[in-house]
Amino acid sequence: MKIASVSGRLTLVREAGGIDVETASGGRFGPDPQAVYAHWMAFREWAEHAPSGPVTPLDNDELGPPAPAPAQVFAIGMNYRDHAAEAGLPVPDSPATFTKFPTCITAPFADVVLPSEYVDWEVELVVVIGERAHHVSSSSAWDYVAGVTVGQDLSERIVQFAGGGQFSLGKSFPGFGPTGPWLVTPDDLGNADDLELGCSVDGQQVQKSRTSQLVFGVPELIARLSAVLPLLPGDLIFTGTPAGIGATRQPAQFLRPGQRLTSYIDGVGTMANRLIAASSA
Ligand code: ZN
Repeated sequence: MKIASVSGRLTLVREAGGIDVETASGGRFGPDPQAVYAHWMAFREWAEHAPSGPVTPLDNDELGPPAPAPAQVFAIGMNYRDHAAEAGLPVPDSPATFTKFPTCITAPFADVVLPSEYVDWEVELVVVIGERAHHVSSSSAWDYVAGVTVGQDLSERIVQFAGGGQFSLGKSFPGFGPTGPWLVTPDDLGNADDLELGCSVDGQQVQKSRTSQLVFGVPELIARLSAVLPLLPGDLIFTGTPAGIGATRQPAQFLRPGQRLTSYIDGVGTMANRLIAASSA
């Protein structure tokens, strides 16, 4: 199953387009895409019974983030071996965790304002929590996941490393968390622990890897994070980025106004964000 936010309304995604959930459910489930995660099991059960309704073609510009207002957004650094190597840092022995403040979350086809000349790309698999998870084992962790989506952990590298390290600030400018184009449930993913992901800048591919290369995979991340605090329905986990970021290239390469950043995960979807200068915002 796939769900999307279409013009801010919770929508079931089909081949031919979208079905408005509030309409198809006769009001049982409301239009707020974020609110559905609080009733995720009931929603899934309803959705599995093939509800029908008017199907409307999807327009990229109407798509919003599938979880637009999470209570908590976790993000993991150095979680692919090749990325740790390019950064010249050791692979951590536990997940290197920071937050992206939730106001950075934006739509899959949104324009993103560049606050400086040092904004970098990081394509990531993003997990959306569907059930409160506290002290969850890795073997049952996928049961707590509503689904996954594509994300960009956009990063302003000067702020990120100022003052000895300000990851949460440097990765939380407005628009620094595009997610989408929709949420895909784990049963619809094939092998959920081995998905190809990548991104390109103006058509030139800069990152390409597989989620099987994660140091701490999705089950292990949920086990380790939930050992400390509860993960709440609708929370996001940005699971880390593979090699190919701009900052460690020779010479370093950053995003420029007018460029188009396209990000994909096979079996999930593709999103594209145009970068714009701060003055034209
Ligand atoms: Zn990242």
